[in-house]
Amino acid sequence: MEVTFLGVGEACDERYPNTSVLVRRAGRAVLLDCGFSVPGSFFTRVKSADELDAVWISHFHGDHFFGLPQLLLRLFESGRKKPLYFIGQSGIEDLVFRVMDLAYPSFSRKFEFELRFLIVDPGQELEALGFKWQGAGTRHSQHNLALGLNMDGCRLYYSGDGRPGSGNVELARESELMIHEGFLLEGQIHGHGSVQSCLAFAREARVKRLAVVHVQRDERRREEERLKRLLENVSYCRAFLPVPGDVLTI
Ligand SMILES: [Zn+2]
Ligand SMILES: [Zn+2]
Repeated sequence: MEVTFLGVGEACDERYPNTSVLVRRAGRAVLLDCGFSVPGSFFTRVKSADELDAVWISHFHGDHFFGLPQLLLRLFESGRKKPLYFIGQSGIEDLVFRVMDLAYPSFSRKFEFELRFLIVDPGQELEALGFKWQGAGTRHSQHNLALGLNMDGCRLYYSGDGRPGSGNVELARESELMIHEGFLLEGQIHGHGSVQSCLAFAREARVKRLAVVHVQRDERRREEERLKRLLENVSYCRAFLPVPGDVLTI
């Protein structure tokens, strides 16, 4: 599985695009979240209009889906023909059409590619596009699904936003890679995790690697060196602070 970090930022970070990850495996390509500032990063790395198979939307906050109009507009202008899947929680179909109509009214009716929608219910496994998809709710201000993505036994866990909920350890257990938000270095803020809580969660779930993303912009600027040292010294998994453009093979 090849994992490319397109963005690692929170909603309003001026240095880093919103957290978004491109996952490629066995000829399939899946985009995990698509916030305001993600399409530029995406199209820098993906040249073919038909390469992308699916977009996972963790939840309905703008830094996780407001990039969809630009993504879809450019795929349309580039002559995409292949269906594009949107996968996530209930309500995703309405969300995609509403945001598209708000940005470019009636454009979605001109698309020469079909938009297809699949829902992941917590506790159920969805098989689609060669991957197994499972979701579990997190503690966030908006309903968010963490994703367990599995192909041929290679497991990736992506938190979206929020602190882990009750089903998250099982979902993350022994993943090759956990990508988790850590809004603050330590302590607790409403609806978000901290880097310290990510580390405790990664240890409990016995993951092999932990990428910490979505760090609050001022906290990251102020604490970057301390944060890197903290992650480098973790012994129970390989923990790191990715930057946009980082590519990892797991
Ligand atoms: Zn959010
Ligand atoms: Zn967010």
